[in-house]
Amino acid sequence: MPRRRDARDLKPPPFQYHTPATVHEACSLLGSLEDAKVLAGGQSLIPLLNFRLARPKHLVDINGIAALDRIYERDGGVAVQALVRQAAVEDSEVVARICPLLSSAITLVAHRVIRNRGTVCGSLAHADPASELPAVLLALGGRVVARSARGERTIAADQFFVGVFETALAPDELLVEAWFPASRQPSLILEESRRHGDFALAGVVRADDRLALFGVAPTPVLADPRDPARGLEPSGDLEATPDFRLHLVRVLADKAFAA
Ligand SMILES: Cc1cc2nc3c(=O)[nH]c(=O)nc-3n(C[C@H](O)[C@H](O)[C@H](O)COP(=O)(O)OP(=O)(O)OC[C@H]3O[C@@H](n4cnc5c(N)ncnc54)[C@H](O)[C@@H]3O)c2cc1C
Repeated sequence: MPRRRDARDLKPPPFQYHTPATVHEACSLLGSLEDAKVLAGGQSLIPLLNFRLARPKHLVDINGIAALDRIYERDGGVAVQALVRQAAVEDSEVVARICPLLSSAITLVAHRVIRNRGTVCGSLAHADPASELPAVLLALGGRVVARSARGERTIAADQFFVGVFETALAPDELLVEAWFPASRQPSLILEESRRHGDFALAGVVRADDRLALFGVAPTPVLADPRDPARGLEPSGDLEATPDFRLHLVRVLADKAFAA
């Protein structure tokens, strides 16, 4: 009997594949090709292609750019370059020492096998509203560095996330580095999800006296710890109603500030 068609049959639409060896080459490609996407860990982009939710004409695979694989101390915080895997950040002694909030947030992102490929910068560029790392960057007041053939610019976290899966990056820009300030105590991340590794129904990040929320708005948002749900209009889905998400935010924020 023929096998029923299922997710294993899904294949991406056709695209041209480019493998730059330097940041300069990658930026030239992004500046000259029409409708190109950067491929980093592929943990979000490849499913989107396979489900035909994205159909870029070109993929610019940055995995061969050795110069983008560093975690280092910078300006009292920690810089994470574009090819650094989430698992490397999880294991990093530098990150644990300077920004333990980032170390603990990473463990909530998916599962270790996904973190072995997925990158921190890819997660920021993907800008899923329920993602942990964009909220961490926002709570800490971090920034990213974007490079293109036109030059380099720095974008503050509160200017970077502009909508659902949408950032301030222009189509020809490569996110080369994210900078996370040192996390001072008390700092913590709390979330509620159906199972460990699932995207959160709602979550909060406390960085000292700042509070950022995720999963309850089109982007991560800063909130008043005394009234965290004020002004929010979260969407509802099969997993949680808007009211349940608002309830979660209040409970998690209370816990974070009682801790
Ligand atoms: C089963 C499963 C569970 C998951 N659970 C979670 C979760 O709980 N929390 C969470 O946050 N994430 C989760 N993810 C997503 C995962 O963290 C991805 O690794 C991450 O979102 C994207 O990183 P990537 O390196 O794989 O990027 P890719 O998939 O390669 O790219 C994602 C997007 O970002 C763009 N991009 C990537 N890097 C750059 C760059 N340097 N410059 C410009 N654009 C760039 C790409 O063009 C693409 O549009 C999950 C994924 C899976 C498959």
